[in-house]
Amino acid sequence: MLANSIFGLFYPEICEVCSQNLMRGEKVICLICLQKLPRTGYHLLKNNPFEQRFWGKADIERATAFYFFNKKSNFQRLLHKLKYSNGKNIGVKMGKYAAAEISESADFRHFDYLIPVPLHPNKLRERGYNQSLCIAQGLAEILAVEIETDNLYRAIENPTQTKKSAYERWTNTKGIFAVKTPQLFENKHLLLIDDVLTTGSTLIACVEAIKSVCNAKVSIFALAAA
Ligand SMILES: [Zn+2]
Repeated sequence: MLANSIFGLFYPEICEVCSQNLMRGEKVICLICLQKLPRTGYHLLKNNPFEQRFWGKADIERATAFYFFNKKSNFQRLLHKLKYSNGKNIGVKMGKYAAAEISESADFRHFDYLIPVPLHPNKLRERGYNQSLCIAQGLAEILAVEIETDNLYRAIENPTQTKKSAYERWTNTKGIFAVKTPQLFENKHLLLIDDVLTTGSTLIACVEAIKSVCNAKVSIFALAAA
């Protein structure tokens, strides 16, 4: 503890949003930024705009995102660091913050498994970690639900999607996920976990892969929604 405090004098931890030094007890983001985080509140709102993106495309129970992702805001840095600069801590801590809030809704309290959207093994090797798994670890601590990372897997590596239209992205992701042992998910309620929701095509492909082989209920959580 003492060693930690002394270490903190020389290398103070800073808020990942505003870069101010963190106070004792603050982790990853300061209380002021945490308060300013543009939350969606969607866990409390059935048929919310986030769920509507899946209408007619994926058969889901509920869907929510913790906060709104805005390209111009400081909160964008959080997601960038989460993905590209060893942001494991950010993922876990944000997962915990989010879990404490979404569990206000009975719809987001009870699941059989948390399923982080799988990365392709090549991508995982390149990045070193799956950022959705980090978020899941934070959620799991608060929700006390087991994380399952093997049963849903990425069957094909999808090419980079950034320059594609929404339609191309959507057809591009069909069939990229598969389920190893359908019995494991049978009659279970799964929470799929992603970092940021853009088109939803990846999540739709996951739901499709699960629903095509087993009778499972699926809900969705993203840390942020664009
Ligand atoms: Zn801050």
